Order: sequence, then structure tokens, then C-alpha cells
Amino acid sequence: MSQLKHVAIVGATGAVGVEMLRCLEERNFPVGQLTLLASARSAGKKMTFKGQELTIKELTPDAFEGVDIALFSAGGGISKEFAPHAVKAGAVVVDNSSAFRMDPTVPLVVPEVNAADVKTHQGIIANPNCTTAITLMALYPLHQAFGVKRVWASSYQAVSGTGAQAIEELARQSHAWATGGRTAWDDAKLPDSEIQVYPHQIAFNVLPHVDSFLDSGYTKEEMKLENEGRKIMHHPDLRASVTCVRVPVFRAHSVAVSAEFDKPVTVAAAREILAQAPGLDIIDDPANKQYPLPLNIAGKDNCAVGRLRLDCALDNGLAFWVVGDQLLKGAALNAVQIAELL
Ligand code: NAP
Repeated sequence: MSQLKHVAIVGATGAVGVEMLRCLEERNFPVGQLTLLASARSAGKKMTFKGQELTIKELTPDAFEGVDIALFSAGGGISKEFAPHAVKAGAVVVDNSSAFRMDPTVPLVVPEVNAADVKTHQGIIANPNCTTAITLMALYPLHQAFGVKRVWASSYQAVSGTGAQAIEELARQSHAWATGGRTAWDDAKLPDSEIQVYPHQIAFNVLPHVDSFLDSGYTKEEMKLENEGRKIMHHPDLRASVTCVRVPVFRAHSVAVSAEFDKPVTVAAAREILAQAPGLDIIDDPANKQYPLPLNIAGKDNCAVGRLRLDCALDNGLAFWVVGDQLLKGAALNAVQIAELL
């Protein structure tokens, strides 16, 4: 590969794709040529990179000619179908979908945790689930110090995690409520015609349902922290019981975590370790109402952790609250960081 890379973004028009473009620009990634790919619906439309207008092309099997790095963010089906074409054309694929994450031949990478795994790639590198990546930003440094055994977590996941249509749905439903002549005392329920993306109204609601349900009663999304966490942290014994919840927040996921460790943990020691952790800020001054909030973390590269306290129901347990912009650390930024490692 030459110094300047020919980069392709598959799904350039999506919620993640747009952020990938921005990350490449802001981080001054050595882009020699940029190919923007999306569906036939977007072909011919323009996007801007470093002040230059680029025309979006339709994704086709032969779209990867000369591409060095292909950032995929158009869903698992598209990745499964087109990533092999990109690899065949000589590109390294960084894939945002869940298509290859648990494939033993594909490294699954959070650069702050297991950057060295990138070296083992055979053409495809997977980007982890967004909630998992954000949680590991705080959990992994603690694991290194105290050895994590088990985790209980609840997520509060923003609608942008579902993509551009879900962002529009929350905006549309909020607008319909605000302009519908209602007061806060009225029923906040909107007509079913307002519900398109999620199984229920998302505005003024919380949905304990992210991804599809498994026979166990957990959802697929809820098992990702255990499955992907084991692979990323090289910790096959990790156990995690997670409830994933969709909340009416536009951007940035929050996760309430209780972690049980092998070794005794103190808040002071945990704070010291987390203060050194790359890509993570500590916002933890409850007396002054300071803790991480999705509204404040949206658009930021770093994740933030707060509400550190000894877990009163566990031996060697620590409870904390971690927030991260899932479009960035949970997707676009992590993918571009992987590309930087390459
Ligand atoms: P999105 O906003 O719905 O965007 C989907 C993108 O895929 C659009 O660019 C769309 O192009 C493109 N696409 C759809 N069908 C296509 C086709 N047949 N051929 C080529 N391109 C096609 O979704 P997103 O939130 O960006 O998510 C994209 C992927 O990233 C998913 O696999 C998702 O699981 C993963 N991911 C998302 C997040 C997140 O926070 N959103 C986090 C981690 C991982 P058009 O505009 O032309 O339709």
C-alpha cells in the first residue's frame, strides 16, 4: 500500500457513514482517493469531503477496483454479500455490521483494548457492537487491574443506533406531540400511523427491546457484551447479564454497569485507573450534579464514566455509569482508528 490510501465507504449516506466521512477528515487520515458507495437510491447524489464534492456511486461487486481500505456500514446482509468482493479486489475491509464479528478468523477490535489483533486479519476486521465498545472503554482498564468475573448492565440506547430513519421517527413523533394541541397531562400516546421504525412509539417512552429475541428470553443485542467482550478482552470466562433499552435520546448510548471482580476494588483505585485510560474521561462529582450525560457526550470522541461507587450487593463489586457517542466510538471513530492501525 502507498502512503495515501484509496478509501471506500459503503453506506456513506447512513447515520454511521456520514460520521465516517467526518472522522476521516477531522483526523486527517491520509486519503488519496475516496469512493462513496450506497444504494441505487443515492447514486448520483453529492457529499463533501475536505471541501470537495464527491458523487455517490451505487454499490456493485466491481466497485472496489484499486481500493486499499473499505469501511462497510450498510447492514449485515450487504457486508456478507459485498465484503468478499472488496477483499478479492485487494482491499482490507473494516466492517461495522455484526456479520463477521464472531467469525474466529476475523479480528474484532477496539484499538484501546486489543489493537494487536489487527495484525491477524485475513482481509476483514470487525468493529464491535456499539454498546459493547462503549462499556469496554471503562470495563477493560478495570479488568486489567482487578480481573472482571461477572457483569450486570442495563443500556439506555439512542435512536441513532438504529440509523437515519429512527432519528427521523423520534423527531417526527416529538413534533406530532408538540403540535397536536396536547398538554403534558394528556395521554402522550400518538396514533399508530406515527409508528414506523420501532414496534412501539419511541417518543416519551422506553422500549425494553433492542434487536430480536432469542429462546433464552434475552435479545441478540443483550448477548453481545458477553460474546464480543470475551473475544475482544481475550477473556473467555466473562459472564454478562444485560438488558438493552431504547430511549428517546437522539445520540449517545449510556450503560449502567455493575461489575464483580476477582480482586478487592476501591473507588479510589478504580478512579486512578480510569483516569489513565485512553479515550475515556471521568465526570464524577455527584455533589455538584456532574456525571456523564448523553446530551453532553454526543459528538465527542471520548467516552465518559461517572457515578463510581462500591456495589452494595456484590463482593469486590463496582457500579458505574458510562456514556459514549455510539456513532463515533461505537462505529465510525472506532473503524477509522482501526484503519489508522493498518
Ligand atoms: P442507516 O442510517 O440506515 O444507513 C444505511 C446505509 O446503508 C445507507 O447509506 C444506505 O444507503 C446503505 N444501504 C442500504 N441498502 C443498501 C444497498 N442495497 N446497497 C448499498 N447500500 C445500501 O444505518 P446506520 O445506522 O448508518 O448503520 C449502518 C450499519 O452500521 C449497520 O450494519 C449497523 O448495524 C451498523 N452500526 C450502526 C451503529 C449506529 O450507531 N447507527 C453503530 C454500530 C454499528 P441509502 O442512503 O442509499 O439507502
